[in-house]
Amino acid sequence: MADIEEEARTGHEIIRQILPLMSRHTVDFRPKSYAVWYSYVSGADPALKAAIDRRIDRGQRLDGAVTLDLYSRHMIDKAEADVAQAQNKLLDVLATAQNQMHSAGDETSRFNAHLQGFGTSLGAVEDAEQLKAEVETMAGETSRIGAALEGLIESVRESQAEVARLSLELSRARSEASTDALTGLSNRRAFDAAISEFCKNHGSGALSLVMMDIDHFKKVNDTLGHPYGDLVICSVARIIHANIRGRDLATRYGGEEFAILLLDAREGDAAIVANRIREQVAAARIRDKDGTEAKQITISGGVAEHGERESPEGLLGRADRALYRSKTAGRNRITCAGS
Ligand code: GH3
Ligand code: MG
Ligand code: MG
Repeated sequence: MADIEEEARTGHEIIRQILPLMSRHTVDFRPKSYAVWYSYVSGADPALKAAIDRRIDRGQRLDGAVTLDLYSRHMIDKAEADVAQAQNKLLDVLATAQNQMHSAGDETSRFNAHLQGFGTSLGAVEDAEQLKAEVETMAGETSRIGAALEGLIESVRESQAEVARLSLELSRARSEASTDALTGLSNRRAFDAAISEFCKNHGSGALSLVMMDIDHFKKVNDTLGHPYGDLVICSVARIIHANIRGRDLATRYGGEEFAILLLDAREGDAAIVANRIREQVAAARIRDKDGTEAKQITISGGVAEHGERESPEGLLGRADRALYRSKTAGRNRITCAGS
């Protein structure tokens, strides 16, 4: 629950920052521009953020055409249908709120005109009858604007609640787009983004990659059934998750394969973590509700530390070859790529 509230607060904060940015750069209030600015403010896509910052540093304005270009280059394959849908809904509510503000503006200026007219006619009033008529007209106008403003306040309040709900929906959709549904670990997309970001900037500290694969998993599926296989995948994911720190990234890389990015970890440190996971998996008793249980589940792993200016493909290839060596050497072991 606390997480949901936190997400809502973050959503609010992001929207608060997006609107002034958008109006400074463009009149193009379309879902795609909104998506680009959302990503910019939330920092979800560091490459996109860097591209925008470069333009801002050069004093360029990000008009509609530039924003759409950024969208197609950075976001198209990331904009899953539900993310786009949540963004569109949010945008609709924002547009409605904007219309409400406009109509309030119209009401207020009409009222002002009446007020001025009232002042002028008061000066020209000749008898009590005429004065009464003028006052009655003005009283009618006053209660009309009172009602209009009350309605406006109510609908702005509703819009605010709707914006809060939709921004929560949007951040949920975004987090679902980077999460593996079966295990709750990150998915391949989030992993690819994280590893390429690290390799591009190669921040301070070491990074090691562990690739893991469940041994003879086809046989587990064939003998104990696919649902039991799924349970095994989830149990291994849980053990991996329990053995890494918050800033590390555990990913379900493929069917029964996992990739773990360990920050500030040399190859030897990563091998210790990988071996701990391997031992816990081998010792785990994985039993489903019908009592089905494999004799033993084991995993094999390969570890590689990121080398100077190494590409993601290079690092993945070395970790993968180390994993293959673990398989051919008899499985249930961890092999280091070595530098
Ligand atoms: P090795 O020790 O060499 O890794 O052998 P293996 O049998 O694990 O290797 P292989 O890659 O041949 O088999 C992987 C199997 O994983 C095949 C596929 O049916 C199964 N699999 C892939 N994704 C899932 C999934 O989501 N759930 C289940 N239950 N099985 C899956
Ligand atoms: Mg495999
Ligand atoms: Mg396997």
